[in-house]
Amino acid sequence: MIRYGALEILAEKEGDKDTLIIANIGFPSKELHEIYDRKANFYMLGSMGLSSSIGLGLALARPERKVIAIDGDGSVLMNMGSLATIANQHPDNYLLVIIDNGAYGSTGNQITATAGLTDLKKVALGAGVQNVAMVSDESGLKKKLDTMENGVLIVKTKAGNKKVPVIRLCPEDIIKRFMEKSALPFHSR
Ligand SMILES: [Mg+2]
Repeated sequence: MIRYGALEILAEKEGDKDTLIIANIGFPSKELHEIYDRKANFYMLGSMGLSSSIGLGLALARPERKVIAIDGDGSVLMNMGSLATIANQHPDNYLLVIIDNGAYGSTGNQITATAGLTDLKKVALGAGVQNVAMVSDESGLKKKLDTMENGVLIVKTKAGNKKVPVIRLCPEDIIKRFMEKSALPFHSR
């Protein structure tokens, strides 16, 4: 399984629900957009490393909504402190899905530390996250998405991107439609 396959499963499980989905910069956003574009998807076009933080803030602001943030190993390694904040805030409506392919997929698949000695499951547990799971195949991912409401789910995949087009929505439209769906006020700048 590569990232695209994991995103297909996630979209199949959550796409028709009310779940608010934050997608990480680069290929994760482009691939999710290709698989299942919906207004309740937020495609983060900048701010590498902050998908997990944006998801946490949203989950805290909208406790009645399920929030899933899709992040990558490279981004989590860049903003590792986010795991400690998530652990200590631990909103029960927030699931962080880390697609760990051991590579910086959007910049040419250079290897990350998780291709070496770093274990993000241990990192999340060490940060204090109580509910941590790791899966490495399609059936495991489906089961966890059916049962895991919150915490950190690490999905081990192979490196590789699907050839997908760029997202043609402008950033203002992405945030406007997302905020309408999440019923947060939209303040145009
Ligand atoms: Mg990666």
